[in-house]
Amino acid sequence: MAERWIIHADLDAFFANAEVLRRPELRGRPVVVGGDPDGRGVVSSATYEARARGVRSAMPVAHARRLCPDAVFLRGDFAHYGELSRRFRAILRDLSPTVEVASIDEAYLDATGLAREPGPPTAVVETIKARLRAEVGLTASLGVAPNKTLAKIASDLRKPDVVVLVGQGGGAAFLAPLPVGRLAGVGPKARARLAALGIRRIGELAAAPPVLLREVFGERGPALALRARGIDDRPLEPDTPAKSRGHERTFARDIGDLTALRRALRDLSERTAAELRRGGLGGRIVALKLRDSDFRTIGRQRACAARPTTPGRSSPPPRRCCARRWPRRAPPGSGGASACSACGSVASARWPASSTSSTPPRCATSASTARSTSSTRASAPAR
Ligand SMILES: [Mg+2]
Repeated sequence: MAERWIIHADLDAFFANAEVLRRPELRGRPVVVGGDPDGRGVVSSATYEARARGVRSAMPVAHARRLCPDAVFLRGDFAHYGELSRRFRAILRDLSPTVEVASIDEAYLDATGLAREPGPPTAVVETIKARLRAEVGLTASLGVAPNKTLAKIASDLRKPDVVVLVGQGGGAAFLAPLPVGRLAGVGPKARARLAALGIRRIGELAAAPPVLLREVFGERGPALALRARGIDDRPLEPDTPAKSRGHERTFARDIGDLTALRRALRDLSERTAAELRRGGLGGRIVALKLRDSDFRTIGRQRACAARPTTPGRSSPPPRRCCARRWPRRAPPGSGGASACSACGSVASARWPASSTSSTPPRCATSASTARSTSSTRASAPAR
C-alpha cells in the first residue's frame, strides 16, 4: 500500500500579510488587523514584526497598541481575504483531488500516491510554495506527515514560511517532547488537570494509563491517547459543509442594562435565524457565548427538540437550562449583566422569530450597549 502523506498548509499571518500585499509600503512594519484600537476589538492577525513585540491574536487591540504604538492598525477587509483564500484553495485543488478546507487560511491536502518515488511528496510541497508566492503573493507554513494530527502540529511548529516533515513511523518521537496543549482537544482545563497528574508533554500523555485518560477526557480519552502516539486514521473530509452558523459582536462600551442586552441578543439571534432560513437550513443546538471585560468567555449550549428555525414555530426556551448552568454571580464589573438574563432574552425573543418577514430590531447603539462579546450560534444544521 502506498505510504500515506498529508500536507497541512497554513498561510502565515494571513490577514496582516494580505494587507501588506496590497500596500507594499507596509512591508517590514508592524501591522495589526483587528477591531478599533480605541474600542474593545481584538487582534485578528498581526505581522511577525508586531508579534516580535508581543502582539498576539485574540489580544485586545488596545493592549496591542500599548505594546506596539507605532504599528499600523487596520480594520480588515474580508472580501479581499476571501478572494486570496479562494486562490490558495484553487492551487491545492489543482494538485490533489482530496483537499479539506479547515478555515479561511488553512487546508489539508492528501498527497498519498502523488510522489513518483517512495518518500515524502517533495515536489508537491515545492509546487505549493512556489505557486503561492507567484499566484497569491503569500507564504505558508507546511506540515508534511502521515496523518492530519501530525501535519497540523508540524505546520505550526516553526512558522513562518517553513516546511516541517514528520517521517513515516516518526510520529510518536516527534510529538513526545511537545507540550500537551499542542494536541487538538487539550484546552487549558485539561492541561491543568494533566499538570496536576505530572503530565506536561505529549510523550507523557502517550504513556499514561488508559483509565487515567478516561477520567480526564471521558469518552475522548482513548482517541486522544492514540493521537498522542502519533496515530490518526481520520480521512480528509473534502467540501464539508459548515456545521454551524452564528453571529457575534463586540460592544464598544459596557452595559449593565438587561433590556439592552436582551435587545442585542435578539438581534444576533434574528440574524442567525434569517441566514439559516435563507439557506434552507435548520439547527438543533443553540449556543450562547458571552465574554466579559476581563476577556473571560462563558459558553452554554442546549439541544432543542424542534428545529428552532422552522418558520411558524418558536424554539423551546433555553432559559431554564442555561440559567441553571450559568454562574449565578455576575462577572465583576459587568453591572449584573449575568448570562442567565442573556438566555432569558433569547427565550423571550422566541428564538428565532417565527416569521421570516419580521424586521430584526437593531441592536442598541454603542452608547448604551455592553462590554461583552456575545453571540448566538446554531449548530448541526439539518436539511
Ligand atoms: Mg494561518
